[in-house]
Amino acid sequence: MESLWNDKEAFACGSDLLAQRVYTSRLLGQNPSLVLHGGGNTSVKITEKDFFGDEVALCYVKGSGWDLATIEKPGFAPVRMNALMKMAELDEMYDSDMVVQLRAAMTDPGAPTASIEAILHAALPFTFVDHSHADAIAALTCNADGEARVKEVFGSRVLIVPYVMPGFILAKTIYDLIKGRDLRAEGVEGMVLLKHGLFTFADDARTSYERHIEMVTMAEDFLAARSAGGAPASSGAGILPAEHLLGLAKLRQAVSKVRGYPQIARLNASAEAVGYASLPGVADFGTRGPLTPDHSIRTKRAPAIIGDDIAAGVDAFAADYKAYFDRNSSGHTMLDAAPRFALWAGKGIVSFGDTVKDANIVADISEHTAATVQLGEAVGGWEPLPESDIFDIEYWELEQAKLRKGPGRKVHQGKVALVTGCAAGIGFAIAESLAEQGAQVVGLDIDKEIPDIMKRIGGIGIVVNLTEDQPVQDAIDFTVREFGGIDIVVSNAGIFPKNDHLDAMAQGDWDRTIMINLTSHQKLMNKVIPYVKQGIDASIIFVGSRNFKAPGPGASAYSCSKAALTQLCRVAALELAPHKVRVNIVHPDAVFDTKLWTPEALEKSATRYGMTVEEYKTKNLMKVEIKSKDIGNMVAAMASPLFAKVTGAQIPVDGGNDRVI
Ligand code: ZN
Repeated sequence: MESLWNDKEAFACGSDLLAQRVYTSRLLGQNPSLVLHGGGNTSVKITEKDFFGDEVALCYVKGSGWDLATIEKPGFAPVRMNALMKMAELDEMYDSDMVVQLRAAMTDPGAPTASIEAILHAALPFTFVDHSHADAIAALTCNADGEARVKEVFGSRVLIVPYVMPGFILAKTIYDLIKGRDLRAEGVEGMVLLKHGLFTFADDARTSYERHIEMVTMAEDFLAARSAGGAPASSGAGILPAEHLLGLAKLRQAVSKVRGYPQIARLNASAEAVGYASLPGVADFGTRGPLTPDHSIRTKRAPAIIGDDIAAGVDAFAADYKAYFDRNSSGHTMLDAAPRFALWAGKGIVSFGDTVKDANIVADISEHTAATVQLGEAVGGWEPLPESDIFDIEYWELEQAKLRKGPGRKVHQGKVALVTGCAAGIGFAIAESLAEQGAQVVGLDIDKEIPDIMKRIGGIGIVVNLTEDQPVQDAIDFTVREFGGIDIVVSNAGIFPKNDHLDAMAQGDWDRTIMINLTSHQKLMNKVIPYVKQGIDASIIFVGSRNFKAPGPGASAYSCSKAALTQLCRVAALELAPHKVRVNIVHPDAVFDTKLWTPEALEKSATRYGMTVEEYKTKNLMKVEIKSKDIGNMVAAMASPLFAKVTGAQIPVDGGNDRVI
């Protein structure tokens, strides 16, 4: 492992110790083999003047909720050293009391809550303290011989600390271990916490950081020599074949059912992931436990093992989880029994989360877990913490509080929505409303700008001509491969041809209208329904038109296409009801905030009716203007649990029309 220290960047910090602390914390955070997503913590001790001009000794400790990779000065909590040392001298302290006292001892009440390791950081008599959960330290110490190996690799340069639960007990253990000793005279430069991680310390930022890198490198070299250069398992190409996509959707559906709400599923089909998931024996060593206890908060203790019978694999995980809970619980309330990641033999590693971001975090942890567990198993047997220790962390009040902090669930969180014709107007408004309510949107449109347009709402845009078969199939397959399934389909794409009466209409105009406004929808249904049947609270919504019930002269192609689309919706509702998939249609009218309507066109139409533009825009029974966003919000509502028991319905959004009512 290379040191990322850069003299020029470090020089920019000057003599500002907190700036130096930010700099080397970020160096640690940049390496995912050291810390992942909020793991690890760092500190610096600084004596400074408080508001009243009195000198105060502080320990700036990483605040919870901050990530070392991106931390800034406000991410460190300034805690008074004298309070921290008083806490270290207590014989006992509840962790919940510790959190209160840590906050009370901060000189800035607006700072984030200090890491639960704050007392431990304070107790170490060095200016800089760096702590990581390095993969190599896990592979080295998650073994029956862990302690002997640490002695062999590091000699007396490190203190060896058997596993105890993080928080007050760990701080107290270390405080007692070093009390009255002169660590500098003893040449102690760090501590290895068996089956947990590594601490290094020094009085300057560079030495503390570079000791960390050096020690992790020593562990890596030891492991490489012991494993005789054996490469991790690897097999298959990096893409899931199309015939297994339905299996992926079934896996996501089964996991979401156990979880109680929809989950995004991210498949890692890299050669390494497929190789690991397919290893004989992975059901044994792959489920013994995580690399470091705090991973279990994100991943649970072990992954699900998925074979040919996908649902059975998820059920077996849930049953095992319940048994684990029963073995270890003393009056706790059981959390959900859904896996956070699954090893799918022959296909790869699937990670789950409420959002793509959450699932990606699990994916990163599972990738490091796969490589490290294999290495650990190869160099003498993978033996992580026993399940009782993991249970203590998983059901630890402080960790549960971290998880609860997030904002409340959005209506469509975890759902995947496919929307067609969404580069502008009603289609865009629908995609936007679904995204605002938490759905991961994939938008299909013939407009070349669609990738950028969808990016604006956090979605993915794919340029597709919806009348062509293979590109549509590819877009659907892409969606399932990326996110695990499809729950919401909004079939919106359409055109409004020019107003010719039947005796003057070009055959091509008729054919093109029917192809885009009707046949492309039928083609989409043909390809997407197999996946929607595996969706969560699945729903298909067509965008029709008031024109179907109240046609006008010159609109034969448009009116007929929308009438037939309505009939298509009704048949789909009949066919899909047994699969609990609802199919409804919305009939908008007089939506003028779209590309089609320029101010000139509006003026022209209003004049034709002998109205002002304002009158023309609100020519409905309620005298209200209908906007694209009204349709977007209605469609998002129709896809929500509000409409859970509604199928085959036609909902007009038109302000009331006497020809329709
Ligand atoms: Zn730790």
